[in-house]
Amino acid sequence: MEARKERMLSEHLAARGIRDAAVMKAMREVPREAFLPSGMELFAYDDGPLPIAEGQTISQPYIVAYMVEALELLGGERVLEIGTGSGYAAAVLSRCAAQVYTVERIPFLAAGARARLEVLGYDNVTVHLGDGTLGWEEHAPYDAIVVTAGAPEVPRELLDQLAPLGRLVIPVGPTQHLQELVRVRRTREGKIRQEQLCPVRFVPLIGEHGW
Ligand code: SAM
Repeated sequence: MEARKERMLSEHLAARGIRDAAVMKAMREVPREAFLPSGMELFAYDDGPLPIAEGQTISQPYIVAYMVEALELLGGERVLEIGTGSGYAAAVLSRCAAQVYTVERIPFLAAGARARLEVLGYDNVTVHLGDGTLGWEEHAPYDAIVVTAGAPEVPRELLDQLAPLGRLVIPVGPTQHLQELVRVRRTREGKIRQEQLCPVRFVPLIGEHGW
């Protein structure tokens, strides 16, 4: 398993441009196999997404690293993740930020991720069951927000919950399965700046301000 993980780090992440040392350290530390359905552990460090349950997926390791790097975390941030899924990306985020709040709409996945994160000791992650297109007002504002499902547009509520100088990384696209990853920044004056990062393919963001 360790050799497979080292190959992932060098061939799938470093060779494709992941440079943030904290992100690389987190990708080395978090055991992706612990977030997979049993029987799939052998595929944990392959270069692709994998099915979890309820028709959902755990994202490709490279995409997880790319999205976390795109958030430009320094370690002291409060981060909101929409789309907990297995809890893997939340665990990676928890190594790169101070506090992680993560929202999942499917009860079975939220419960599984909560239990897994607790057993593994990721005690700066809080899992919430709900519609993440509404954000999680209770703990706002967030220094960084990451959405791990594809949205038709950037949900207004997420922009409202982004702190000044905050970054929001989200797949946005005109169809449910093809998107462009975009990064939105809130300036010190509160203005919104958006940049396109790369084409991606995520499961759809389902909810009041999603599909
Ligand atoms: N980050 C996850 C991981 O590390 O395993 C992978 C996430 S998977 C690609 C996308 C997740 O977004 C699914 O678990 C799906 O149920 C969830 N999702 C879709 N719409 C949502 C919404 N409105 N609020 C919260 N979660 C949502």
